[in-house]
Amino acid sequence: MTGYASLLGPFPRERAWLLPALHRVQHHDRWISPEALIAVAEHLRIPRSEVYGVATHYPELRLEEPGTRIVRVCTGVACRVRGSLDVLHALEREAGIAADSTAADGSLTLEHLDCAFNCAMAPMVEVEGRYLGRVERRDAPRVLRGPLPRTAPPPGAPAIGPPASDGLPAQRFAAIAAWARLPARRLTRLRVAIGSCGLAVGAAETFEALAREAQQRGLDVEVGVTGCSGACWAAPSVHLESPDGAARHLAGVTAGRVPPLIEAVANGAFPAEDRALADFLAGQRRELTARCGAVDPGDIAEAIRAGSYAALASALAEGRPERVIDEVKAARLAGRGGAYFPAAVKWEGARAARAPTTYLIVNGEEGEPGIFKDRHLMEGDPHRLLEGALLAAYAAGASRVFLYVHGEANLSAARLARAVEDARRAGLVGHGVLGSDFSVEVELRRGAGGFILGEETALMESIEGRRAMPRAKPPFPVEAGLWGRPTVINNVETLVAVPLIVGRGASWWTGLGGGHGVKCFGVSGEVARPGIVEMELGTSLRAIAVGLGGGVPGGAPVKAVVLGGPSGVLVHPRQLDEPLVPGGPVNPGTGGIAVLGPAASVRDVARVLLDFNTRESCGKCTPCREGTARLRDLLDGPGPVPSGPVAALAEVVRLASLCGLGQAAPLSLLSSLREFPGALGESGSGHV
Ligand code: SF4
Repeated sequence: MTGYASLLGPFPRERAWLLPALHRVQHHDRWISPEALIAVAEHLRIPRSEVYGVATHYPELRLEEPGTRIVRVCTGVACRVRGSLDVLHALEREAGIAADSTAADGSLTLEHLDCAFNCAMAPMVEVEGRYLGRVERRDAPRVLRGPLPRTAPPPGAPAIGPPASDGLPAQRFAAIAAWARLPARRLTRLRVAIGSCGLAVGAAETFEALAREAQQRGLDVEVGVTGCSGACWAAPSVHLESPDGAARHLAGVTAGRVPPLIEAVANGAFPAEDRALADFLAGQRRELTARCGAVDPGDIAEAIRAGSYAALASALAEGRPERVIDEVKAARLAGRGGAYFPAAVKWEGARAARAPTTYLIVNGEEGEPGIFKDRHLMEGDPHRLLEGALLAAYAAGASRVFLYVHGEANLSAARLARAVEDARRAGLVGHGVLGSDFSVEVELRRGAGGFILGEETALMESIEGRRAMPRAKPPFPVEAGLWGRPTVINNVETLVAVPLIVGRGASWWTGLGGGHGVKCFGVSGEVARPGIVEMELGTSLRAIAVGLGGGVPGGAPVKAVVLGGPSGVLVHPRQLDEPLVPGGPVNPGTGGIAVLGPAASVRDVARVLLDFNTRESCGKCTPCREGTARLRDLLDGPGPVPSGPVAALAEVVRLASLCGLGQAAPLSLLSSLREFPGALGESGSGHV
């Protein structure tokens, strides 16, 4: 334990702190040595064998010492079709080592990465945990030896909380809203869209250049930050507000373009709005994402001015949690994690259990390659998510909320942590929220990689300090979840919809998307305008991928669309006009859309998706563990794929696997067989 005492000392000696303790050690040492494993085992009083078993289970935990610089190249489908394998090979040549190895002198570890969850900025490379986007082969020297990519500028000092007030929830919230009111004096504001997408292409440098130029010229302007609007393709972008309140979006504002922009602002000649960017945003139905790109995610006062916590305050003032359930039930809000299970039914089940302790988990794990919309919401509008989680906890009778965020989603985690801190200071989290009898604690937890963490019971195992392996159901989590207590688990996008439904009423939601509401989609692959879009359900893939996304660059035809990542399907172009509705012929799933152009090989894509599922299988049940590997091997064989045996085995895996990962693993292959029967006879291109 010597040497690790100060690192591990703050953790209570409970198994639930195993993953956070391993994270702490890895963050400090860059890897987890045998000595560190022993120290963790001794501090938490867990057998060493079990600590080792957990540490080796999570792909993001390193048990081998890495080189001084860790470079990882994304080889997910969206990055492959934009040339990431070429980038990886260029890095191999430049560094003189093969991928997934460390240089003999210890200066570099070069690895492939399943997904950087920044698919709109493909090809993506991660350097020391920081992102570089739109990387080309010629960037290899810079990637290997250049300065590290920048991180987000730190948020402003925590807002001083509103003055303590007494009284009922409505009175207390009125005092908070008065505190948050905008100062009367308005300045020109230049706000840089900083999400992990923008950071990958220089948004932090744009922010610094704006601040520097404005100061040097003594301009009376405010330089700030927003989240990304979803127009990742336009990054770095700037949201400019003139003193009269008029706002415009400016695309492609690199640091080099800052001096003429500041010159124009100084002369009162505000540049025109970028038409393509304005059209991209206007062509959507932006409800869940309305504040992404328009508010500072680190400023609770701005969030409150934009409407945050008003629905929570009204619900607490009414004092009937069942009313929240009724409203969301009437809206028929279905889970946006892909299963579309009615959210309010989970809350109702947990409330009916009347247990002394009930938990709510916000599933911000989002570990499927090609899916990145939850990260966009967490980074862009953390207060709306937090309000949704608080409303859900109130409805379900939960007193403890876990915000479970993917281990690599550092910006999401940082902004949520800040949101919780500020909300607590304002009396919106903690004992007696807004003076009501609702008390709730909110805690941030981080995953450590592994697609299986998206399965709700596997995620619970991880919070309890175990390997992420699904439990058999029943019992369902609302009956016996975390530590055997009733537990609700909701997806990020689902919870973001809750304050809007509670605040505007169920009929507002059912009036959208033919009763299904709105949905966020991550658009990537071979499209001219990749990013996050929000549309009413019932819209078509063509409207999203071709209309908003701009289609394949150069006007080439779409060969196929991967819809829903590795658990999804390959969609044929003749289905592009089908309405996207849950349970329909083309199911929107989690909302990942990766477009394939004419050069892509359907066989290679099916193989990449299947290979990922094979590696991510937790191994608990045989059809998934063995079947996915066998299917991949059949795809790897020479000549045409034997469609009969492949289809038969795929059906077995689909029907006989224990959890959703295995059940969905062969769907992309089955859909390829069905929709592209000739394509599986193609020999692979090696480049997807
Ligand atoms: Fe694990 Fe796959 Fe079985 Fe799910 S289906 S429990 S991932 S082996």
